[in-house]
Amino acid sequence: MSIEQKALFTIFGGTGDLAKRKLYPSLYRLYKKGYLKEKFAVIGTARREWADDFYRDVVIESIQDISESKEHAIKFASHFYYQSHNVTDIQHYNTLKTLSEKLDENYQLDGNRLFYLAMSPNFFGIISQNLKDRNLITPTGFNRLIIEKPFGQDFESALELNDQIRASFEEDQIYRIDHYLGKEMVQNISAVRFGNYMIESMWNSRYIDNIQITLSESIGVEERGGYYDTSGALRDMLQNHILQIISLLAMEPPTRLEDKEIRTEKIKALKAVRLFEPNEVSNYMVRGQYGPSKDEISKDLNGYREELNVAPESQTETFVSGKILIDNFRWAGVPFYFRTGKRLAEKGTQIDIEFKNVPLNLFDNNEEPLPANILTIYIQPTEGFSLELNTKKIGLGLETETLKLEHKHSAETTANSPEAYEKLILDCLNGDSTNFTHWDEVATSWKFVDIIRKHWDSEKIDFPNYASGSMGPIESEQLLNKDGFKWHWCPNNN
Ligand code: NAP
Repeated sequence: MSIEQKALFTIFGGTGDLAKRKLYPSLYRLYKKGYLKEKFAVIGTARREWADDFYRDVVIESIQDISESKEHAIKFASHFYYQSHNVTDIQHYNTLKTLSEKLDENYQLDGNRLFYLAMSPNFFGIISQNLKDRNLITPTGFNRLIIEKPFGQDFESALELNDQIRASFEEDQIYRIDHYLGKEMVQNISAVRFGNYMIESMWNSRYIDNIQITLSESIGVEERGGYYDTSGALRDMLQNHILQIISLLAMEPPTRLEDKEIRTEKIKALKAVRLFEPNEVSNYMVRGQYGPSKDEISKDLNGYREELNVAPESQTETFVSGKILIDNFRWAGVPFYFRTGKRLAEKGTQIDIEFKNVPLNLFDNNEEPLPANILTIYIQPTEGFSLELNTKKIGLGLETETLKLEHKHSAETTANSPEAYEKLILDCLNGDSTNFTHWDEVATSWKFVDIIRKHWDSEKIDFPNYASGSMGPIESEQLLNKDGFKWHWCPNNN
């Protein structure tokens, strides 16, 4: 059976950063693997006046590190067409329609269309409306819309945006990207849980003490200060990536590993997340902003407030950590701690699952409890697992030591594993929305985040409160300490 997919891709924002860094390389990888062959075409569109040849050169340049040969890259790029277009100009949709129909016929695409909105969400409404009103949506093939985050600024704006899009597209035609869901190891959470009876049978409050999720970045906001200052870590990371990871960790086993079944379980888990009263927010959430650093390693790095396009008195948080409780039978009483931030000690994403201590320590080191068993899922930069177990030290006596069983995929395997965007585009071509976020998930997540945002916006805080190169403000440590836990991953202590 052929794996070849037929489709016309229309990329709004075809001259932008995302298109060049992620989308063209991902399409090329699908081309190399035979998912895209002869029957596909791409229209790149943006305001800039580019000729097709210039556009194809841009595409070739964007894949230069991964292309098999110059000839192969040229052949791939010959499927690309450029259409200058201001998305607010209705007339241009007619030109776009004519070009789409021509390419549909030339490449025999059967009316399959994938519209990728790689531009500011302010334009999502107008684009989707015009795609419908100007008949760019075909009656024959599939019509799917991929949209980028952020999906709104809060529940109200997300609802408004959703209503605008839903006026033209059905929910099952909308693919909301959360690129974390395309990552190998995030998808692997389900394999670890549901493929191992030993693990799934312990996956509950009886055996798990707490779960810790860290998504840390070592860089600052770089040149994205303008955007970041209006967003902050809470909106940028918690509303989407972190709550998505939590829903995958916390959901009940689906009856089948299919999109609708998985989604139903994820939504149930998200709906069980305890909503705080505004006056409780500071008991559960910590915010931080990085300050300048003058130490040996990080040299003279700017503090957040000195970054380009950031307000000098900015109250925007570049760090957030918190404790999430899930009020259902499986998870009652188990804290899900998370932290994420910029300019932290090390770049990395990992999940540490801390199991309960044995009820009685029978070994020599009986003044101290045995270290807890920890299952770690490494998501990036390396992918893999480790499990920490207590074993007997060789020698006389019954002293124990912690043994770490670890498997990390080799750099070569990781490099050859499909890129998140590649996987997600292929899923969309296949009509599989498992790894995209449904509106109900977006809505539930915003309702949780809005309570925190509203409370934080009502109180000024003395920023900056953590140094570049640390793992965030001290309050983030205290959040766990007051429950008798500590962060398992401490890169700055290594
Ligand atoms: P970008 O580099 O600023 O690109 C924006 C694109 O929109 C450009 O191609 C621009 O081209 C086009 N554009 C702007 N106004 C237009 C108009 N009125 N009509 C037609 N085209 C217009 O932004 P980006 O980094 O690619 O990000 C795109 C979206 O993806 C954003 O929503 C962002 O939040 C999201 N995102 C990006 C990344 C990333 O890694 N870059 C990661 C996650 C999410 P012209 O100037 O030529 O019109």
